[in-house]
Amino acid sequence: MASSGAGQVEQLRRRNTARVLGVLRADGPTTRTDLSRRTGLAKATVGSIVTDLESAGLAAETGELTTGRGRPGRTVALTGADVLGLGFEVNVDYVATVSLDVGGTVRHAETVPVGDETPWDVVTQVAAERADDVRAAGGRIAGCAVAVPGLVASDRRTVRWAPNLQWRDRDLAASIDAATGVAGTVVDNDANCAAVGESSHGQASGVDSALYVTGTVGIGAGWIVDGAVVRGHGGFAGEVGHLPLGDPAARCGCGRTGCWEASVGLRAALAATGVTEASTPWASAERIAAAAPDTPAVAEGIALIGRHVGHGVAALAGFADPEVVVLGGYFVPLAPWLVPAAEEVIGERLTFADLHRPELLLSPLGLQAAAIGAAEHALDPVLTGSLLP
Ligand SMILES: [Zn+2]
Repeated sequence: MASSGAGQVEQLRRRNTARVLGVLRADGPTTRTDLSRRTGLAKATVGSIVTDLESAGLAAETGELTTGRGRPGRTVALTGADVLGLGFEVNVDYVATVSLDVGGTVRHAETVPVGDETPWDVVTQVAAERADDVRAAGGRIAGCAVAVPGLVASDRRTVRWAPNLQWRDRDLAASIDAATGVAGTVVDNDANCAAVGESSHGQASGVDSALYVTGTVGIGAGWIVDGAVVRGHGGFAGEVGHLPLGDPAARCGCGRTGCWEASVGLRAALAATGVTEASTPWASAERIAAAAPDTPAVAEGIALIGRHVGHGVAALAGFADPEVVVLGGYFVPLAPWLVPAAEEVIGERLTFADLHRPELLLSPLGLQAAAIGAAEHALDPVLTGSLLP
């Protein structure tokens, strides 16, 4: 059938375009000959894709001539600094936003406290403002994506259940579409997004097998195997916050006792240290860290959280055997007291700690990890070649 044949040609063209974009993004400017070698595509195919990318404003010749063996060639580079993916992370007490250009450079990053408004209102307002700002500066929006602390339906549009936000079956994507005027918003779990952020911009970049544990009011995990996020059958893999890995007596917001989150979530850290909450989990953690050097009870409170973190990480690492475990979110400012306590318990509890012990790393991305991962998702229409004319 002609239509399916044309569809296959189009699919192939998108796939090839994605390969060329992938090489330019990962390795920087290069010649058409080199692109052909690295993608395994014919030179004529590469030439035609580069022409398409140029007319879409995503690539340009840099004017540089390569020397060395063979005929000199002009270097092609990604441009597209004005083509942006808008990523958002909505949480109980803050909304983070990151704008990422096609080359992977962060063009804008901001964390807005929720304050007296609702997280829903704040994320839609922030999304509308970001879209307006990009357009006012003459930029183009490739897409939008939102990271949420909860379970997302397989359509990647509807929030099925976000307990800490009290959202059930809410069409967040439609609301962001309307706020930004950009169709096709993607919604994804925050820990999955953070894992993508770490994998593309942070500690887990270039690592094949990583476990990312994010600490805010809730606890989530993103699991990367062979460089890709493991989503599970319903997209719910990595929901570790309510696994019974915590103090069996600790009451959780979900109504159960013993959840990991009830022992290592931000509220548990505030209770263990007696420090009052600040505007964001990061600010709260900095407040706790500032008190720790002079207050032994605060340092001991953090160490207690660290031991619960170690207990859970040992269990998860025993199952997943990752090369690295990246701790993110509010855990990071507490690392000097938290990590040694966690390491000690991991040494005691991980069966194969003597043979292979995953390296415990700290996220360098602050509260932005999930928003960066969301912004990567938001660029998908460009990076997969489907936005080209
Ligand atoms: Zn729970």
